[in-house]
This record gives sequence, C-alpha cells and structure tokens, in this order.
Amino acid sequence: MATGEVLIVGGGITGVAAALALAERGVGVRLIERDRLAAMGSGWTLGGVRQSGRDPAELPLARAAVARWAELDARLGGRPGYRRRGNLRLARDEAEVETIRALAATQAAAGLDIALLDGEAARRIAPALSRDILAASFCRDDGHADPIAAVTALADEAQRLGAQIESGVAATALTTRGGAVTGVETNAGRREADCVVLACGLHAPALLAPLGLDLPIAARIVLVLQTTPAPPLFEQVFGVANADCAGRQEIDGRLRVTTGVSDWKGDATGWTADSIQPRARDVATLIARAGAILPALHEARVARVWGGLIDLTPDGLPALDAPCPGLVVASGFSGHGFGIGPVSGEIVADLVTGAASPFDLAPFRLARFSTARGPAAPLTLHG
Ligand SMILES: Cc1cc2nc3c(=O)[nH]c(=O)nc-3n(C[C@H](O)[C@H](O)[C@H](O)COP(=O)(O)OP(=O)(O)OC[C@H]3O[C@@H](n4cnc5c(N)ncnc54)[C@H](O)[C@@H]3O)c2cc1C
Repeated sequence: MATGEVLIVGGGITGVAAALALAERGVGVRLIERDRLAAMGSGWTLGGVRQSGRDPAELPLARAAVARWAELDARLGGRPGYRRRGNLRLARDEAEVETIRALAATQAAAGLDIALLDGEAARRIAPALSRDILAASFCRDDGHADPIAAVTALADEAQRLGAQIESGVAATALTTRGGAVTGVETNAGRREADCVVLACGLHAPALLAPLGLDLPIAARIVLVLQTTPAPPLFEQVFGVANADCAGRQEIDGRLRVTTGVSDWKGDATGWTADSIQPRARDVATLIARAGAILPALHEARVARVWGGLIDLTPDGLPALDAPCPGLVVASGFSGHGFGIGPVSGEIVADLVTGAASPFDLAPFRLARFSTARGPAAPLTLHG
C-alpha cells in the first residue's frame, strides 16, 4: 500500500540533509534515529568541509557542497557555523614536503584553487603554527562547520518544511514484498514506507545483509581531543601530509584535534561509549603530535576526549544507490562524509524521486562490492 512517505533511517548529517532535500521537494518524509541526532559519526567528527585531497569521484560533490553549505548557513541564520577560511595540509619533514608538492600539483590539475606555500607563508596565514612546519598546501575554499549545531539546524529546517523526526526509534529489519522494500521493523513496531533510505553508517550492512545486499564496511577508530575556549589562534582546518593529525579552532575558541585512523577490534554494531573511549597513552600521543604542530595546544585546558568510529568501505567511497525498488542506501562515507553531507542529501532526494542527478553516481553503486575486491583503500583524514 502506498504511504506517500519516505522513511529515513539515521539522524546524522546524511539523514537530516536527505530529510531537508526531500521536504524542500514537497515529499512526505519521516526520519527515525535510534539514539539522538548526531549520535555517531556526525557528532564525533572534526567537522571539516574539504575539497582538497578528495578522491576524483567525490570531488564534484565536494565542490558543490561548498556552495550548498554557504546557502544553508545564510538561510539558517548562521546556525551551522560554516566558515570558509581554507585548509592547510602541512609538511613536517622533507619527505612530507614532496608529498604536499605532488598533492598540490594533482589537485590544481583537477581544477582546485590550491597553492603550495613555504613554512613562512603558511605561518602568515596561521601564525600559531610551529616553526617546524616546512611547507603547506592551501586550499582557500575549504572550511569547517559546527557538527552538532549543523545537524540540528538542518533537522529543524526539515521539520519546519514538514518532515517528521523521531529519536529513540531503531530499525531492526527491512520488510519486503515481491522484491521491493516496503518499510522497516523497529523497536516501536512496524513502519510502512514507499521508500526506505538507509543513512545509518556503520549499522547499514546488518540491515542490508538479509536482502543479499553486501555493503562491506570495516570499523576504524579516530581519537578526538577538545579544549575549553582558547584565545583566537587560527581559522583554517589543518591536516598533515601523512594524515596522522588534523585540527581546527571552533567558533567559540575550542581547539578540536584528531589522530589519524587506527584499527578497531570491537563489534561495529555492538560498540558502546565506553568501548570507544581513548586510552590515556593514545591521548598522550595525540597531544604530543598536535602540540608539535600547534604549540599553544599545550597551554589549553582539556574539556573532553572521545573516540569516533569510521565506516570504511574497501575503496573509501560511500554507497549512494537505489539497489532495489523501495530502497536507497547512503552509507559508508569512510571518514569524509560530513563535508559532502548536504550534497549527499540532495543525491538521496534524486534517487528517491527518480530525478536525474547532476553527478556521476557510477562510482558509488552498491553492486561494485559484489565484484572482485582489491586491497582496502588507504584512509586519510585531513579535516
Ligand atoms: C573523528 C572523526 C573525524 C572526522 N572528520 C571529518 C572531517 O573533518 N570532514 C568530513 O567530511 N568527515 C569527517 N569525518 C567523517 C564524517 O563525520 C562522517 O562520514 C559523517 O558524519 C557520516 O554521517 P552519516 O550521517 O552518514 O552517518 P552517522 O553520522 O554515523 O549517522 C548515522 C546515524 O544512524 C543512527 N542509526 C544507526 N543505526 C540505526 C538504526 N538501526 N535505526 C535508527 N537509527 C540508526 C545512528 O545513531 C547515527 O545517528 C570524521 C569522522 C570521525 C569519526
């Protein structure tokens, strides 16, 4: 029976952006979130909105996202906290200088406005950087946003346009009839829908598997440290050539710094807040590494540390696809789905409504995982 409603599973940036894009098109939409909005990746994130260093398949999405973030930020009274102040990718030794040089050349050839700077020029942009920084690439159109504020603001706007959002409701299974998805079973009973959108990150594979659909996701972990508000130090997002550290200063002055990505041995769907909380020695490593880039970090007061899981696919690209009638998958953003979130939401709306997408979606098809798999993609986090 047609319900006239799209049901989105997951209230991260992808789910709320999809709810907003569908509501903007006049489509009836309900979002269910098992915990609270931004309870996983979209709350754990650094919050970088980056085009530089993107896979070529994702670059058009990342470029479109820059415009969409600006439009949403203006429309929502600045609540998403979007700032377009650039991304500095730093080199700490000669080998990293060569990495940065090659990266800047490749990205410039792809059409990005990206410059290669020596250490002094990088410190003119961000004087708080250590004198040990030898060089940097600088993509001035990159930026960052406030993760939880952005998710909340997009959700509020979606609701203003008619979307329904329910927290504390978990999808436990997809329901099907004649090869089409017809809704979900939840902890609060069955929900029928014309179309179900899986925007539930790490938890999507378990819902897909009973349908014979394979979304291979490996859980990886990143540590995050956030300080109390510090005096203004820099406005850019920084990363490093080998991606083992990144950071930014939030609008209220808090420093938020992250490690690179490590293996995580736990159960991807059985994680708890305790099981992903960082060990003291890993926090010490993060402070040493980030403090070597940003010496002022050592003087800042620590407010919180947390671990965040990454939903890594074998090629580091998400699944954005409609693999069978009544189902859209938007999961597996592999550590860089926040920045493109608003555009992922538009792609979901195109897939749901059958509108032609302005993007080439072939690299994001779910079926690519049922053919031969190469080695896992190296995962990079640069903010
Ligand atoms: C430490 C860290 C730093 C990062 N830095 C960046 C960065 O600088 N830039 C960038 O672009 N990306 C970054 N990322 C990645 C980015 O945050 C994620 O790719 C993005 O937030 C994923 O959003 P999502 O909505 O797809 O998934 P999530 O935010 O993970 O949302 C999934 C939601 O689904 C809910 N859910 C799960 N199962 C169910 C169910 N059965 N029923 C109902 N709800 C369910 C969850 O509770 C969750 O709220 C980072 C990630 C981490 C962890």
